[in-house]
Parts: sequence; C-alpha cells; structure tokens
Amino acid sequence: RDIAADLAALPGLAGPPREIAAALAELSADDGGLADALADALADELPLLARDGGFIRAGYSPELDEQRALRDESRRVIAALQAKYADLTGVKSLKVRHNNVLGYFVEVTANNAPRLQEMKEVFIHRQTMANAMRFTTVELSELEGRINAAAARALALETEFFTRLVEQVREQAAMVSGRAGALAVLDVCAALAELAVRRRWVRPVVDGSSAFLVRAGRHPVVEQAVERAGEGPFVPNDCHLAADPGDAQDSDPAPPEGMEPKAIWLVTGPNMSGKSTYLRQNALIAILAQAGSFVPAEAARIGVVDRLFSRVGASDDLARGRSTFMVEMVETAAILNQATPRSLVILDEIGRGTATYDGLAIAWACVEHLHEVNRCRALFATHYHELTALAQRLERVAGVTVRVREWKGEVIFLHEVVPGAADRSYGIQVARLAGLPPAAVARAEEVLRMLEEGGDEARRRQLVDDLPLFSASVSASQAPPPEDARELKEVADMLRGLHPDDMTPREALEALYALKEKLGKD
Ligand code: ATP
Repeated sequence: RDIAADLAALPGLAGPPREIAAALAELSADDGGLADALADALADELPLLARDGGFIRAGYSPELDEQRALRDESRRVIAALQAKYADLTGVKSLKVRHNNVLGYFVEVTANNAPRLQEMKEVFIHRQTMANAMRFTTVELSELEGRINAAAARALALETEFFTRLVEQVREQAAMVSGRAGALAVLDVCAALAELAVRRRWVRPVVDGSSAFLVRAGRHPVVEQAVERAGEGPFVPNDCHLAADPGDAQDSDPAPPEGMEPKAIWLVTGPNMSGKSTYLRQNALIAILAQAGSFVPAEAARIGVVDRLFSRVGASDDLARGRSTFMVEMVETAAILNQATPRSLVILDEIGRGTATYDGLAIAWACVEHLHEVNRCRALFATHYHELTALAQRLERVAGVTVRVREWKGEVIFLHEVVPGAADRSYGIQVARLAGLPPAAVARAEEVLRMLEEGGDEARRRQLVDDLPLFSASVSASQAPPPEDARELKEVADMLRGLHPDDMTPREALEALYALKEKLGKD
C-alpha cells in the first residue's frame, strides 16, 4: 500500500503502471489469516528438518510447553545429580554424560572406579573402557525415562501442528503462489529500475517498424566487468539496422558519417577487438527493450523482433556425436530456415571450423541467404575480410569494423565500431600478447609473410616448401642478448660516422681494426 501511495505521488503518473498495480493488489488480497497463523505458530529460528522439532513457538500450545518444561527440568535434575554423586563418592572428577548407545551414565576414571564399585547398592556397572568405567543408577534410569517420554510427546505434538499448518497452507496454495508471483514482479521491476537509474539506461521506443537503432549502446555485463578490472571506460557503440530502409524517421539518431541504416552489418575487426561483445550487447538490448526494461544506451528505437537468433561461441557436443563444426552448422541451418523479416540475427564467425575456402564460401552464402531470402536484420561478425566485398555488391549490407591502432608493432584496441572493413586480423600480435613463445611468434610472422606474398596455390606451396626449417629460422631470428646489442649499437654508430670517400687506405684499415676491437675477441 505504501508503494502504491509513493507511485501515486509521482508527478505525471496517474497511478502505478498496470503490472505493478496488479502485483500490489495481489499482495493485499485476503490470505484467510494464513500469515498470522504461521507467525503465531512458528518460532523465529527454524530447524533445517521438521523431524528435529523445536520449530513451534513457545506459548503457542500449553501442552507442548508443559512437555518441554518436563524434559528440560529433568535435564537440569540430571546435571544436579552429578554434584550429588561427586559428594557421595568423594570423586571430584565424576561426570554424568550421555551417548546414543547407553543413554545417561556416570563416568569416572579407572583409578576412581573401585570407589563406586564398593557402593553396589547405588552404582550399577555398565561398561569398562581403557581409562574409564561407566555406571548407571536407578534414579538416573528413571529420570532418563521421563526425559525420553516428554521429548517424544513434545515432538509428536509439534509434528501434529506441522501437519495442520501444512494443510492450512495447502488450502491457500493459489494465494501463496499469487503473492510469490507478485513479489517476483516487484523484485524484477525494482531491480531494472535501479539499474536504469544507477547505470544511466534509457527508455527505448519499441514500435512496429523494422528498425534497430541504438545510439551509444553498451554491454550491461562487460561494461561493469571492464570498469571493475580498471581497464578503462567501456566504449559505447551505435548500431543502425533497418530491414526496410524506408523505416527511417527524422527523429532517429544519426548513423556514423557516410552511412545509412542497412539490414545487415558485416562486422570485421581483429581478434580481441570486441566484435562478440558488440553483437551480444545489441541482442541484449533487444531483449531488455521487449521485456519492458530501459536499455543501456543513450537512445534506442527498436521495431518489434519476433525472434532473436544467435550463433555465438564454439562448443561441441561430442557426447551426442556432433563436432564443433557440426554444431555450428546445425545452428546456422536453424537460423537460415527460420528467420523472418521481423527477426534479429547475430552470427559470430561462421565457418571457422573448416578449411579457409570452405569456411569463406559458407559464410558468403549465409550472408546472401540472409539478405535475399530471410530479409531480416543481422549483425554478422567475420574474420573473412574477403566478405566485405559483399557490402559493395548487396544493396542492404554495410561493413563496419572495430578500430585498432598499431603502435611500435603492438596493437591497441580502441573498441570503437566505425564504417569500413578491417585490413588485417592481427592474430599474431594477439598470440604474442597471450604469451606464445617468441620463437613461435617469429616463425608465424615468417610463414604469414610467405603466404601473403602468395599468388596462386601452386606458387604459395612452392614458397612454403622453400621456407627455411623451423630450427634454422629460429636461430637466425633470435634477438642478440642485451650486452651484444650494446656493442652492436656502438659499432653501428662508428660505421655511421665513417666517410669512406674521405679516407686514405691506411685510415680505412685502422678503422677496420678499431671496429673489430669494439666487438671484442669473439
Ligand atoms: P575474438 O575475435 O578473439 O573472439 P572479439 O573481437 O570477439 O575477439 P570480444 O571477446 O568481444 O572480442 O572482446 C574482447 C575483450 O575486449 C572483452 O573481454 C572486453 O574486456 C574488451 N571489450 C570489448 N568491447 C569493449 C568495449 N566496447 N569497451 C571496452 N572494452 C571492451
């Protein structure tokens, strides 16, 4: 009721939204006194298992209280017996203990046992241990009997109440699940509202168009992970898709310079640049918008998506006889067979699990199929830079790329989606970042150079055959150790300072000796 009043007081809101009003009504519906009944009957701290007892509140049942008092009082009497027997026998260390086999018993050390054995009219021998002896007494057995009876009676009473309470809950089952549902609705709404405020999400426009326009979208999870890891701010990115270009409106956020919304965006970019993150963030924005939530972006207009299809990440299903590539193809087949013009498709690197040309051919055919047959909105991330030629040939396809900068042979990821196509994959740089041994990195660079010099297949094979063997190439490419590097630099500096045309033969010879000397004996 308080929530309803708070919402009613908000300017511009006539009352709570329909779903929240329904949830609030559900919560204030008559519960047939169940909540009060449970609060009266149940203790504040409940045991894990009903069979342990102890869950009924003191004061709920006079009979139960009485049995409990009897049980607890007898326990206190037993504790007092310990002092009494210690006095009687003069054994200060005498203990009254309990275990599940003997029940209650008197225990003394083996040294003190004769003292009790002498008093046969009181102490009855039960058990001899290595260092101790155990006895019972008539008084102890009687008390134990009373405790057990009271405890059993108390538990029986509790079980009876429990059954009755369960019955009462069952009668109100519909009300209980209705309230649980209402609480869940409020919980989700409150959580999404809090996210919207704290993380600066915006209210999307959801309409009947074929547009998918997002300005400065972010990935709700990666954004927080990147910030938490101190890896700098998350870079927001636009997305401008429209299955039908005629769906554009004047109020739409402007696409990046030189672009109009297209049905399919081909996303290229180096490994690790953020392609998968970009694809997923847009899929998540579609889901959030259609679930009624605000979205992590500056603005968004989304034409209702009838189905969201995604093929991301590679995993196999070997147990069911499907390889990674097979799983990928089965999922891709489902998309091409089912996506409609209202669907949103995200495809991450189709065709990677096979030979380059096979993979490229499949990816190529998939883009064309999505464009010509499915006619849906799609984000298609690929490593096949050759595919970007399609962006020129197919009218409703555009190419975007995730920018990187190269600096002193290293790649810097800018995570910024811009029009165009990636020229390279930077796979080797990423491999170096990941810690591949320098020898393997150097070798990969060498092989790549050969392959890129390329030409036709036969020529490429010839080049690869001509590559020096791994070991030869590695020893040639290994960088000199640092002390050699210093000497080499000095020699290089000296060489640079020489002007052979101005030197006499003798000066040249002396310079040569000096150079050799610089390099040391070896
Ligand atoms: P690959 O081709 O190797 O699969 P990818 O291009 O798909 O890589 P992602 O897995 O999406 O790359 O992103 C790699 C990492 O880059 C993420 O884990 C994240 O830390 C960071 N990242 C991605 N997008 C952004 C962004 N917009 N802003 C900041 N960091 C980002």
